[in-house]
Amino acid sequence: MPTTPAPARRKNPRPDQGRSAPDVTEGRLLISDLLQIVEQDLDPKEVKAIYQAYLFGAEAHEGQVRHSGEAYIFHPLSVARILADMRLDSHSIIAALLHDVIEDTPTAKKELVAQFGKDVAQLVDGVSKIDQIEFDSPEHAEAENFRKMLLAMSKDIRVILIKLADRIHNMRTLDALRVDRRKRISQQTLDIFAPIANRLGMYAWTQELEDLSFCNLYPKRYDAIYKELGKRRGNRRKIIEKTKKNIAEEVEQAGIEATVVGREKNIYSVYRKMQKRRVPLVEMGDIFAIRIIVRSADDCYRVLGLMHNLYKPVPGKFKDYIAIPKANGYQSLHTLLFGTFGQSIEVQIRTEDMHRVAETGVASHWRYKTGKEKSGPQMPTHSWLVDLLDTQQAGDPSDFLEHLKTDLFPDEVYVFTPQGDIKKLPKGASALDFAYAVHSDIGNHCIGARINNESVPLHQELGNGNHVEILTARSAVPTPLWLNYAVTGKARAAIRNFLKNQQEGDAVKLGRQLLDRALKSEGLKTRLRTDQKIELLKRIGREDWNELLGDIGTGRRLPKIVAKQLLPGSSNNRASTTAEPLPIKGIEGMSISYARCCRPIPGDTIVGLFSHGRGIVIHKASSMNNKTCRNVDKQGKRPDNWIEVEWAEDIKTTFEADIRLEVVNRRGVFATLASVIAEEDSNINHVLVTARDDRNSAIRFTIEVRDRKHLAQIIRRLRARRSVIRVSRTRG
Ligand code: MN
Repeated sequence: MPTTPAPARRKNPRPDQGRSAPDVTEGRLLISDLLQIVEQDLDPKEVKAIYQAYLFGAEAHEGQVRHSGEAYIFHPLSVARILADMRLDSHSIIAALLHDVIEDTPTAKKELVAQFGKDVAQLVDGVSKIDQIEFDSPEHAEAENFRKMLLAMSKDIRVILIKLADRIHNMRTLDALRVDRRKRISQQTLDIFAPIANRLGMYAWTQELEDLSFCNLYPKRYDAIYKELGKRRGNRRKIIEKTKKNIAEEVEQAGIEATVVGREKNIYSVYRKMQKRRVPLVEMGDIFAIRIIVRSADDCYRVLGLMHNLYKPVPGKFKDYIAIPKANGYQSLHTLLFGTFGQSIEVQIRTEDMHRVAETGVASHWRYKTGKEKSGPQMPTHSWLVDLLDTQQAGDPSDFLEHLKTDLFPDEVYVFTPQGDIKKLPKGASALDFAYAVHSDIGNHCIGARINNESVPLHQELGNGNHVEILTARSAVPTPLWLNYAVTGKARAAIRNFLKNQQEGDAVKLGRQLLDRALKSEGLKTRLRTDQKIELLKRIGREDWNELLGDIGTGRRLPKIVAKQLLPGSSNNRASTTAEPLPIKGIEGMSISYARCCRPIPGDTIVGLFSHGRGIVIHKASSMNNKTCRNVDKQGKRPDNWIEVEWAEDIKTTFEADIRLEVVNRRGVFATLASVIAEEDSNINHVLVTARDDRNSAIRFTIEVRDRKHLAQIIRRLRARRSVIRVSRTRG
């Protein structure tokens, strides 16, 4: 009898009504079994905690029944049992007992933290998150993404182990469900969960999941293979027994302690082999498999020598996974022998430890590392992985750890579209990248995003498992700012492309305007004939008319010079008329910019200066009280270099202006000034404060204004503050 900790009494006993008697009895049997197992390696304290988790779970699930009709607690109990058989730590077992309670009671997570600690609560939470993923009928490629996402989402490998144990028990009890649900769940298991178990090196779980799925999906095929294998076993019993006896005797004579066992073939793997080789069942080779378990690695090699002496080895089939373990830690010697009766004998030779690793994969590593007393929350998921990676670089690169490396330390995030599709993006990708991943048209018009139903800015970084939705508006277009937080090549290329086209479009438009003006001022018609255009393009070595206009718009060519080339000869040169100044609206785009040296604003007299590659730069020009920008004086000597411009009538946008204040140092002075500027419907884009002495400071603001009037109003309001000694617009 196991020493059961603490009598089975609940804090708040409830009548057992609604529960049938056999359930309770069986439940007690199950829990006492479980406790008996964990008592073998866990502290009494941990065993007690496991028992308390059972009581907690039983209470939480009280009144719930499974499809089979049994009390719900049977399920978590069985899951815990599967993990206990794996010799997992107490937190995993406790979390398994509680793995379904978070969904039942909204406060459960907090409660779990209080009662069982943060580590357990996080494990339960992790399992619940996986449960929320819908795995419905994934396509083949999608299944791979689901697997990766599942691994990536689970920061702790134990979450996966609990989930796999949960799936194993559900598969074992699938009979209670309708056929269609059975098939759906089986397909999922085959697509997603069995491959994960396989990658984790958990061959026993993999085979069970595969066979249970296969049996439910294709019951007839399963039966046929099962019967055929059974028949062969029956027919060959004598041969098998004889071979086994030969081997055992040979090993014993050499004085080596060994266990020789026949190996069952995984039915699903036989089926897969049949499909792969496209051969019917009857033609499948008659392989029989033997495993020899010995005490030491040395013994493995000794036994191998004996085997190769006893039967002839098939050339090229010997594999030494002891010297060079598989990347998942698997170790064994493999060889194939010609049996005396024409059959092939597949032999695996390994130690007890190697056997445990082969059967339980990751879980065995977990166990080794944790030991008895170290099952606290400080166990990092990855430490053993890192160890393995360091020590087993030599392993088969196609193997699971290579995958795991990319799975558990992913450079990728997996997110859902509103339709439930999965998108794979590089780590660090933003909602904006997602928008472009869905479609470049959605990217080009997006204005915001929702992640898990919460509004987020476009630069929000994506996390694994996020449900992402993009908000768009037809009028929205990309801005150069987006390049700061788009990380995918696709998004960056699309944004750059858009900006470039826009810039080129702007330049062509401006170029056309400028050329028209220049033509007018030379007394020429603005509408040019095709032959004139071709002639001109030839002369200046350009192919396309828009390219030429673009050159003009970006200041690479001066419009006056281009226009002059169209003059047939000086004789035909009519009296030039003065062209209208070019109207500036402030929304011309990239082809027109505003000089930082003088920061012109509407109301200022302005002049346009051609700047190579930058189009036209607007500077302040002289006017009565309005000094000409020094840079215009310097560069403006050549008349071809500048162009007459004037502000358009209806300007809707704002411009930057610099103002300079001298203020008395007083607490809150800066806040006062800032609020004045804000009240006047302006923004401060830049501030520079220089302390002059103890009493005074100089402040320089770059603010947004509509025009001179607006600026004057702001200056007036600032000047009225007592702390302001002087305020002026700074000149170029
Ligand atoms: Mn479950």
